[in-house]
Amino acid sequence: MKRKTAVHVNLGAIAANVRSTVDHLPKGTQMFAVVKANGYGHGAVPVARVAAANGATGFCVAVLDEALELRKHDIKLPILVLGITASSLALEALVNDISLTVGSLSWLQEAKQGLLAANEPNLVNKKLRIHLAIDSGMGRIGFIEDDEFSAANEFLLKNQDLFEVEGIYTHFASADSADETYFNYQVKRFNHLHDLLTVRPKYTHVANSATSLFHAACHSDLIRFGIGMYGLNPSSTKGVTDLPLPYELQPALSLRSELVFVKQNHPGMGVSYGSTYNSQEDEWIGTLPLGYADGWQRRMQGFKVRVLDEWCEIVGRVCMDQFMVRLPYEMPVGTEVELIAADSTAPNSLRAVADYAETIHYEIACLLQDRLPRIYE
Ligand code: PLP
Repeated sequence: MKRKTAVHVNLGAIAANVRSTVDHLPKGTQMFAVVKANGYGHGAVPVARVAAANGATGFCVAVLDEALELRKHDIKLPILVLGITASSLALEALVNDISLTVGSLSWLQEAKQGLLAANEPNLVNKKLRIHLAIDSGMGRIGFIEDDEFSAANEFLLKNQDLFEVEGIYTHFASADSADETYFNYQVKRFNHLHDLLTVRPKYTHVANSATSLFHAACHSDLIRFGIGMYGLNPSSTKGVTDLPLPYELQPALSLRSELVFVKQNHPGMGVSYGSTYNSQEDEWIGTLPLGYADGWQRRMQGFKVRVLDEWCEIVGRVCMDQFMVRLPYEMPVGTEVELIAADSTAPNSLRAVADYAETIHYEIACLLQDRLPRIYE
């Protein structure tokens, strides 16, 4: 790509985050690196490679396509799809050694029909690996009722030639919160269904980053570590005191661009759609070549980005592909601009950008579009 506006990813930071996390896990607990959504905007394949080189033993993705993308790039470690995959794709998952999440008996019955109908001779002795999802209170996917869960266990005992139950897991809704009431309720619900198991999975797993970092007792056999690997504190919502990280994690992502046009405005001259900003005096205005189509949202109007060492306000509406900043003095075209800093204390950290946009840092990182080149440092 020829664009100078780019997402810079410090792979050394990701490597260090994976190493410290693995070092803090109880012996025998594995780390699966969560690389869904293009590695939270950081690039799934490069992140997966660096995670594997530093101690991750598998990966989690959201959808089968993301798993196949990793396989296409010759990534051979186990991969678990966390979302619900159409039962008609069970064969494709099996052929590519990809583990699927299962949250209902009907899914298993449908997948069985599909696998039998496929009648693939090279699949003799190969089984579809599955992880049973328990909905302990997230309210998203997974078994809830005892009866259905027990019936699924019975079904799996009878169909051991087709399915290998590799895991059982749940996902917490509020592991990032200082109030542990709902978290503890979910632990209880999970344990209740876990006790009904008649099949013996290899992995029991309950921990996303927040659970792993703030509820160390809950580690079990593996952790599904996402946001922490990217160096971000999962407990990070505007107006709420963050739970402190138990060990250091370094953010990896920055977003940088440059001024592509600089001009002097005179009193009364408007800036951008709707002229929501009008110059009151002679002032210098710089234009940046990115906008909401890159994931730099329209609501960022008024936020300050760093131009050289100056904090410059975004004036006028953010357009699809461009936006403007007010400069303290005339600066040349080509001057570097940092929109997001890989420093959690900077006024333009991912967290600060998210606070300004009234969302969470996960969303800001995931919104950064593919048309922004990724530069690995
Ligand atoms: N496990 C599940 C089921 C998830 O949906 C996610 C992400 O949303 C994760 C683990 C990783 O979460 P985090 O990025 O907070 O570590």
